[in-house]
Formats: sequence, C-alpha cells, structure tokens
Amino acid sequence: MSKRKRYLIAGNWKMNISSSDARELVVDIAGKVGKVPKVDVLICPPFTSIPEVKNSLSSLAGAESIFLGAQNFYPEKNGAYTGEISAIMLRELGVSHVIIGHSERRTLFGEDDGLLNKKVLYALGTNLIPILCVGETFEQRKNGREVQVIAGQLKSGLRGIFQTEAKKLVIAYEPVWAIGTGETAVPEVVQKMHLSIRELLRELFGPKTAASIKILYGGSMKADNCKSLLQENDIDGGLIGGASLQATSFADIIKIANELSE
Ligand code: PEP
Repeated sequence: MSKRKRYLIAGNWKMNISSSDARELVVDIAGKVGKVPKVDVLICPPFTSIPEVKNSLSSLAGAESIFLGAQNFYPEKNGAYTGEISAIMLRELGVSHVIIGHSERRTLFGEDDGLLNKKVLYALGTNLIPILCVGETFEQRKNGREVQVIAGQLKSGLRGIFQTEAKKLVIAYEPVWAIGTGETAVPEVVQKMHLSIRELLRELFGPKTAASIKILYGGSMKADNCKSLLQENDIDGGLIGGASLQATSFADIIKIANELSE
C-alpha cells in the first residue's frame, strides 16, 4: 500500500528522560530502527535533554531522518518572561518542530486558544514547524460535540495563517480520553475525525494545501495497535507519549510505518 505522504512518527517524552539518560535511549532507538527511508521520525525531549539528543543524533550514522522537536516555547523574542524558552533559543539548538496546545498544556497550565494561536503564528514566523494538538474530552464526545469542539480549536488555533504558510503545519488529533489511559480510539472513529479535520483545512486553505498537511493521531498508540490506525487514509502518523519512552516499542512503531509505505 502506498501512502500519499511520508508518515511522521513523533515521540513526546513529556517530563521524562533526563539528559544523563537521553543518549542511551536515542542510540538504542536508532540502533533498533535501522534504516527507515520512508518515515520521518521526531523526538521531543524535555528542554534540558535537547542538547544531549542533538549531540547523540549528530554522532549516529543513518539518523538523518530523525528530527528534534520541543514540547513548548513562549512566543516572544526575549525579555522578562521568567521560566520561559523562546523559539530562537530552540532554533539555535537545532530544533525543527514544536508541540503546541497539548491537552496537558491546555488543562494543567491554562493555555487558551488565543495564546495557542499566537504560538502557531510565532512558530511559523521563526521557521519552527508547529504541531497543533486538538482533542475532545470524554464528556464532549458523550454529548456528541466532538466535531464541533475540534473545529472550534482548529479555527481559533489557525486564525490568521496564510495559505502559503499553512502547508508547513502539522495537526495532531489527540482525544483527551485516550492520552496515557491505554484507551485507544478505534481506527474508523479516528479516520472519521481526521476526515472532518481535512475538510475544515480545505475550507481554510484550499484542497491542495489541505491534502499536504499531516494529521497525526495521538492517544495510547503502541506497536500492537498502530498498524490499523496508520492504514487509514487520513492518518499521516502518530504523536506517541508512553510508547516513545522505550526503544523497542517506539522503534517497532517506526518500522511498521516504514513497511506500510512500501
Ligand atoms: C501524548 O502525550 O501526546 C500521548 C499521545 O500520550 P500516550 O501515547 O501515552 O497516550
């Protein structure tokens, strides 16, 4: 089966793996993955482990398609923003992607759609690829509001983006009830949501751009459930939390994505 675009398999380490453990994990992942010419891999460590991951990747042969991402940043150039990290600082460290609006940022840190929109625009302006996360809660799905909730998050998060910039976007659909719970959404349900996201992107940016934007699924994706998800037409990869912390499980997902591309 041949997909219309390269899969992106992204690992979100969250607040795990300190810099002293990062090299071992990266080397282990790269060793287990081997050559995967048809998949883009992204590792998003905590800020303090970014330099170690960067150094490890530069010393590994065959790690060219492993990219470095961050889990957050603050959308200002510099200044009195105690505790924050700027996009320029991330770019300097070789970071190419940044996760924006993960449900943990929305709920635990009160990040609202206005701030997330500012982050998406700022990331694009500084050549960071934004991975905008959207997702409904269990309650919202139970009340049949999931499509409306996701559309609202997307319209706010993507406000003011020009069509020419939009093709650099990555969207991650992460139903909140499936994150870190072991509860994975069934492939047909995910595909239905991805299709409605694609339709909205079409309305916002036109068919060609919408078709080129990667829409990842996130929520307890593992080696044993990723194949059926990745086979769906509008699922262009995964944003993986728990399973990205173990080299074997993350490498297995990457290898499955590579096989599906052949
Ligand atoms: C995530 O944090 O983005 C995520 C999808 O986590 P998990 O894979 O552990 O559900």
